[in-house]
Amino acid sequence: SYVTKVILVTGGNKGIGYAIVRNLALSYVKSSSQPLTILLTARNPTLGQSSIDKLREELKPNNVLIDDGGNVDLKFLRLDITDEQSIKDVKDVIEKDYEGLDVLINNAAIAFKGDAFDINVVRTTFATNFYGTLNVINHLYPLIRKNGRIVNVSSLAGELHIVSKALGQEFSNENLDMDGLIELMKRFENAVEKGTYKQEGWPRQAYGTSKLGVTTMTRILAHRADKEGNGIKVFACHPGWVKTDLAGERAPLTPGMYSHYCAKIPVLLALDEDIVVQNPNGSYFKDK
Ligand code: NDP
Repeated sequence: SYVTKVILVTGGNKGIGYAIVRNLALSYVKSSSQPLTILLTARNPTLGQSSIDKLREELKPNNVLIDDGGNVDLKFLRLDITDEQSIKDVKDVIEKDYEGLDVLINNAAIAFKGDAFDINVVRTTFATNFYGTLNVINHLYPLIRKNGRIVNVSSLAGELHIVSKALGQEFSNENLDMDGLIELMKRFENAVEKGTYKQEGWPRQAYGTSKLGVTTMTRILAHRADKEGNGIKVFACHPGWVKTDLAGERAPLTPGMYSHYCAKIPVLLALDEDIVVQNPNGSYFKDK
């Protein structure tokens, strides 16, 4: 039987994902002597392993890691969220080594630079941000323990107002299910291909629309979990505008900041108890 709490972070080798792993380790307070295992995942094993080595060094003075006398274990697993086999491999390892997962943090995403926009940009962006995230959830959901959590790092860029009022009503319809959401995402892809997206009420944004999909899937999954009565909470968040390879140099925040947004929101959503008590399942968080 398992003893450790297990949290998996996608895209953990740099940027906000790396900061999430770091802050999880620093914020985890030993509760009922339960240790924490953080699975830092990355699509590139060399980058993943070197980020683990770097983090071990950084955390040494804090004495939070098991080797330094703490109760947090760091492990690397390769996970490319667009690669089904790699998702299945991760699932097998978690099943074998831990028998379950407590928290899944979906952080990995891509964004094309500038105003690049065509059907290829849309398909490529969706393949990672929307379908990749959904596929990870579909495979790992059965492993999530009772009262576990899913935290989706979404974005302000994906709020409802980016689409027309009519489309907004479809996205926010409480009866929308996952097939319906996928149908909406496909409708955007088709409209971009035909060149009719503007008339149909869609924005000229692959990234924003992919994140609208992520925030919407969060609510749908929360409804599913509530129906199943498994106590699983599913939240989405905007981490703030953070200086990373994705967001660029102009962003005012840095991933290492822990004062208010950034990695703080996903970490609170993963570990804090009050958040679960005070907010409906499926909530989207930004700022505080
Ligand atoms: P970075 O580009 O710094 O990091 C993105 C991470 O995702 C990298 O680790 C990258 O890996 C990984 N990744 C990309 N594709 C895949 C894949 N197919 N499988 C696994 N991992 C993958 O971006 P940020 O840290 O800024 O972004 C983190 C999250 O925060 C994203 O969801 C982003 O949309 C969101 N966000 C960021 C904002 C910001 O201002 N920075 C604002 C709002 C939301 P690799 O190193 O191999 O490329």
